[in-house]
Amino acid sequence: MRVLVTGAAGFLGSHLCDRLLAQGHRVVGMDNVLTGNPANLAHLKDHPQFQYVLHDVTNFIEVQGPLDGVLHFASPASPVDYLEFPIQTLKVGSLGTHKALGLAKAKGARFLLASTSEVYGDPLVHPQPESYWGNVNPVGPRGVYDEAKRFAEAMTMAYHRYHKLDTRIVRIFNTYGPRMRPRDGRVVSNFIVQALKGEPLTVYGDGSQTRSFCYVDDLIEGIVRLFERGGPEPTNIGNPNEFTVRQLAEVVLRLTGSRSPVVERPLPTDDPKVRQPDITRAREVLGWEPQVPLEAGLRRTIEYFHGIVR
Ligand code: UDP
Repeated sequence: MRVLVTGAAGFLGSHLCDRLLAQGHRVVGMDNVLTGNPANLAHLKDHPQFQYVLHDVTNFIEVQGPLDGVLHFASPASPVDYLEFPIQTLKVGSLGTHKALGLAKAKGARFLLASTSEVYGDPLVHPQPESYWGNVNPVGPRGVYDEAKRFAEAMTMAYHRYHKLDTRIVRIFNTYGPRMRPRDGRVVSNFIVQALKGEPLTVYGDGSQTRSFCYVDDLIEGIVRLFERGGPEPTNIGNPNEFTVRQLAEVVLRLTGSRSPVVERPLPTDDPKVRQPDITRAREVLGWEPQVPLEAGLRRTIEYFHGIVR
């Protein structure tokens, strides 16, 4: 196959490119490096099956030659990023998804949308099955990401129903691993970098809010299976093991051997109180479930940050 990955220089996009290349596919990786990091693709510079294109997918996307797949991963994805780039976040989720769908239609390619657990907002149903419609504040600061992704899902389903496009929607829950940016702003990278530098670990609120953290290799495996043999309905991919943010801080301190203190900082507006994927669909349809426990994944991630943080 020859496939396009948008957001290829990002954390997930770059791992996805590696995985698709390892399977023998030809990959066109596209990014505007707004929040992506070209260093994530540096090792692919001379790969004969890989082609890098610098482009903002909110503008018309031109790709020469055939495409069998379009995997749309372009978007700021960390709360600090989409607060800094609210308009770009809305544009890439709406205009960018439309362009990527249009390209898939023109090429007769299968389309996969990287959606998010944020479509569930601050959920009133726990854990979250795909059938839950969510509890999103459209006008809050997080709304720019949540609503862009909800629009992207609606647009993807419209192309599926109206144009008979072969589509997939993955709802990605909190994921961590090597290639997160040290200043990404998300909790796992923040805590590891703070612990390694001996700086205080910043727990937002009282740290009783929960998240369920998936190691990147598990996530990519789930996404590839969904792309290859899933259906058009949204599919949660994430690790159902749920932890409070304070528990995460304790595990990071223990694994790094850091003596950093833990300090409380204000809770961001509309920060979801709980989050845990119901992965029944992924188990049944894809035979997928995560394999890497939190501590093992954190050890690999700490090792990565050891190499880049000083
Ligand atoms: N968080 C925290 N300290 C940090 C960064 C994040 O306590 O330095 C909290 C944040 O308020 C949220 C959780 O950790 O409750 C996960 O935040 P993240 O930004 O990783 O992603 P989210 O799940 O909110 O999209």
